[in-house]
Amino acid sequence: MFDTILIANRGEIACRVARTARAMGCKVVAVYSDADAGAAHVAAADVAVHIGGSAPGDSYLRGDRIIQAALDTGAQAIHPGYGFLSENPDFVDAVEAAGLVFIGPSAEAIRKMGLKDAAKALMEKAGVPVVPGYHGASQDPEHLAGAADAIGYPVLIKAVAGGGGKGMRLVEAPEGFADALASAQSEARGAFGNADVLVEKYIQRPRHIEVQVFGDGTNAVHLFERDCSLQRRHQKVIEEAPAPGMTPEMRAAMGGAAVRAAQAIGYKGAGTIEFIVDGAEGLRPDGFWFMEMNTRLQVEHPVTEAITGVDLVEWQLRVASGEALPARQEDLTIDGHSFEARLYAEDVPKGFLPATGTLAHLAFPQGARSDSGVRSGDTISPFYDPMIAKIITHGPTRDVALSRMRAALAGCQVAGTVTNLGFLSALCAHRGFAAGDVDTGLIARDLDALVRVDAPVPADWAQAALVALGLDGDLPGDAGFTLWAPLPRSVLLRFGEEERWVVVALSGPGAGVITVAGQDVPARRVAGNWVFGAVPGVAAVRAGDLITLFRGAGLAFHVVDPLERAAHEGAGGNLIEAPMPGLVKAVFAEAGQAVAAGDRLAILEAMKMEHALLATRDGVVAEVLAQPGAQVEAGAALIRLEDEEEAAA
Ligand code: ADP
Ligand code: ADP
Ligand code: MG
Repeated sequence: MFDTILIANRGEIACRVARTARAMGCKVVAVYSDADAGAAHVAAADVAVHIGGSAPGDSYLRGDRIIQAALDTGAQAIHPGYGFLSENPDFVDAVEAAGLVFIGPSAEAIRKMGLKDAAKALMEKAGVPVVPGYHGASQDPEHLAGAADAIGYPVLIKAVAGGGGKGMRLVEAPEGFADALASAQSEARGAFGNADVLVEKYIQRPRHIEVQVFGDGTNAVHLFERDCSLQRRHQKVIEEAPAPGMTPEMRAAMGGAAVRAAQAIGYKGAGTIEFIVDGAEGLRPDGFWFMEMNTRLQVEHPVTEAITGVDLVEWQLRVASGEALPARQEDLTIDGHSFEARLYAEDVPKGFLPATGTLAHLAFPQGARSDSGVRSGDTISPFYDPMIAKIITHGPTRDVALSRMRAALAGCQVAGTVTNLGFLSALCAHRGFAAGDVDTGLIARDLDALVRVDAPVPADWAQAALVALGLDGDLPGDAGFTLWAPLPRSVLLRFGEEERWVVVALSGPGAGVITVAGQDVPARRVAGNWVFGAVPGVAAVRAGDLITLFRGAGLAFHVVDPLERAAHEGAGGNLIEAPMPGLVKAVFAEAGQAVAAGDRLAILEAMKMEHALLATRDGVVAEVLAQPGAQVEAGAALIRLEDEEEAAA
């Protein structure tokens, strides 16, 4: 076994790998960027090496610096985590050239699976069913359109170098093919430097079922399947293992195909074979097709760990250090059911906009596994994926595991940023999902109901007002003496778009009336806690002007300074500002142009996503203040509209 390994990653996966490595008696070297100097993964390591600036290109993608850090600290092996350099065969070559071990597959195996077209051709040869379609060499638009006709619409165009859902276009009918092809190619060229695409049949009620494989370079076993059908825009949201409705016949067929796929490339380490399944006709042993192989540890590996009892990172370290496969296929069994939910800092009602912020308070529930890379007080920066944690539950049955997930989500406390907790909770309460009736379109079909935000009740406004006035903690009045007269105090609070004055009139330290929008809420303190009418107060934290009450998915109130608000409104709604730091990808407006409310004026790329910036009202563009290619801060003015009076003149 290695004595020291370096983890070439950050966040939750770096913490996850460090946990197992240290438990195995292995020393851990972390690497970090400027933004991560105080990060949890640095604290989780024995030694930490600074490797550069905050942008991934200046640090976590700098293979040369990472290898140097490993040599300088005496590490014998490098674990790549996922993302970043984990599927980069040139990095594997460089690691090995430096005399170090790459904890993962060979560069050759990664290259064989790196392009979706070549991977599909290879899998066909190995007798693995692939999605019907065209994955040949021709990129001639006429030829591709002809292939689409032959496959039959609807079809999916995919970038051969694709990942993360980029460069993918669904085409419903022949008229749309040429435009979709051009836009998929240009997105693929921009994102991957390779414009090549393939065309495949679009499966109508698709389920995403993937098989975890593990190889030692010659032999391979599978650790059963995961169902990752709950997706939003081709990104996984909740994963589970095993797949609902899976039959022993189909499991054997899928597991066998996955093992053949891994053995065909002499696979070493943990990998995932992703299959698409046609859910419209139920699960059938001949109803699954290879989509792609991910040659790394996957984000959702914990659900497999939960049902098999295997620590996949332990297996990775053992096999990389030269041990044989730790188990035979017949030793592996499924115990119960497991779910994983991905908790993100994102503004769900605003189209799942990634969010940033300092986590004034962060607490995870007992009774669930939480894999996180941040702690209370840490910052979600704009440079990386805004994941806060993965919450994983396990139970003897799917129903129990799902109930445990509902309880676990209700027990997550996050203050300081908006999160997708409410969305995850709504999904876990979705009847179709609860019944195991999943497909990749479920979220999109029911999106409106799933993104509905819990509105605060008067008791919540009342409690937030007490917190704002500092009257919620230990009060001198609790010791038995009366400090104040019933002098009413007012506070202006904002929840979402809604602002309210709340008037607090206490008749003693432990009783009073709080008026919320004309409605009187009687308040009294019982055993040190406020009760509003019949509604008991909940845990709450205040950080600056932000108050979070932990009811449901959390309710965030802002304490508004009325003077500041007046100043802000004075500036008018003339400016289109960057909602977060990012790169201006495109500007569609020019000075003098008339625009209508909702028109797309610019695109900002931030946190791995593109965000359209829309006109806030009808008007005329006065000035374009940022050019494509510019890196801008949050709040930077990008476009100014003419004053309405100016325009009228
Ligand atoms: P896939 O959707 O291909 O199965 P995953 O869901 O595991 O893959 O992750 C999606 C992609 O984004 C992968 O390339 C993964 O490496 C990357 N990724 C996901 N989460 C993070 C994260 N927290 N930090 C860095 N990269 C991430
Ligand atoms: P990526 O590399 O971006 O992860 P994949 O090929 O794994 O790309 O596809 C991502 C997702 O797109 C799948 O999980 C599935 O939801 C959907 N998808 C892919 N291929 C098809 C298809 N042929 N028919 C229907 N949906 C598909
Ligand atoms: Mg994929």
